[in-house]
Amino acid sequence: MIDNREISLSEPVFMGNEWKYVKDCLDSGWVSSVGKYVKLFERKVADYVGSRYAVSTVNGTAAIHTALMIAGVSAGDMVVVPTLSFIATVNPVIYCGAIPVFVDSEQETLNMDPGKAVDSIKKLAKKGTRPKAIIITHLYGYPCNVDPILDVARQYGIVVIEDACESLGSKYKGKMTGTLGDIGCLSFNGNKIITTGGGGILLTDDKYYEKKAKYITTQARDHTVEYIHKEIGYNYRMTNLQAALGLAQIEQLRTILKKKREIADYYRRNLAEIPGIRFVYEKPWVESNFWLNTILLEEDQSIVDKTCLRNRLRKLDIATRPIFRPIHLQRCYRRYRHDDLKVAEMLYNRGLNLPSSMNITRRELKRVTEALKTLCLKDWKYPPLGLEGRFALG
Ligand SMILES: *Cc1c(COP(=O)(O)O)cnc(C)c1O
Repeated sequence: MIDNREISLSEPVFMGNEWKYVKDCLDSGWVSSVGKYVKLFERKVADYVGSRYAVSTVNGTAAIHTALMIAGVSAGDMVVVPTLSFIATVNPVIYCGAIPVFVDSEQETLNMDPGKAVDSIKKLAKKGTRPKAIIITHLYGYPCNVDPILDVARQYGIVVIEDACESLGSKYKGKMTGTLGDIGCLSFNGNKIITTGGGGILLTDDKYYEKKAKYITTQARDHTVEYIHKEIGYNYRMTNLQAALGLAQIEQLRTILKKKREIADYYRRNLAEIPGIRFVYEKPWVESNFWLNTILLEEDQSIVDKTCLRNRLRKLDIATRPIFRPIHLQRCYRRYRHDDLKVAEMLYNRGLNLPSSMNITRRELKRVTEALKTLCLKDWKYPPLGLEGRFALG
């Protein structure tokens, strides 16, 4: 029976001290943002990634918002961002009243194209403007090729913020993502590689950033006893309950990463011979956490084919997800000007995330690859223009 359950995209697994630590919180009465687990979790994450400081937040979006604020981004400033990402990468730019400058993607990694990011910054410099910050993502765990971006950012004095919400445990040239720029942001939402239910962390080596992040996320309180505030702050701190769950989860991270790599390697081996599909894999100089595995349909495939394939897999109880819709195409971002972003659009038309849960079984993996083999060798390429096609284009 168990073999025929729906194969999910990514679900959390609690196999360690989760119950024990959360119960300890409840027993101690320390459930809110004061309590030993917050500090323990922050220290554990900081040590794991090799960052001097870690400041926990209510979620990853709040971590990115805080990162922009402590980087000094304010109304009218420009912030360079990838267009192919979850919308939470860019929404905090708007929260600050700043202007997103969208950059196209690189086919190989799905991330911001470093050459195009450099061009974009140089073009702005020629016009006498300089972005205040740049946000780099590591989509689905695949590390971005950051060196050229770090170089140009140093040259022009631009703060580098990493949205590493999907890439805890991924490495670029041996160094953990989230520690490559000036400030890194992690998310512990339920679908991420480890979870606190909802939560985030801001990483930095800079004492000033750390102090400022703690200050802003605790209502900018200037005195520990008296209620004195010079600035507008936010209630963005993580609770002890969340941190307790997180501490138990990060203890499992090595096991999770090992399993994720096995899943990716299985897909790589077994999808290789299927015509019309390319499996995205890590480049030799990086190490992905393989949070979600991605396939790209070949060039001549359209969004209709992708949606059709997805619907047919769903009928076989196999959950997949289209890759993110480029942010410049979202209605709320259409008014921001941008250059040609054709690679991101093309990737969106062709990309699908495959089931990647840590608890997926060998048999289930086989079910997924066998289904893909059958469907891709059959007639799914030219579906009748029924609901599935219209849904995708609408
Ligand atoms: C999940 C995610 C976020 C936001 O994290 P939350 O904890 O859900 O607020 C930001 N950016 C990316 C790329 C994400 O995947």
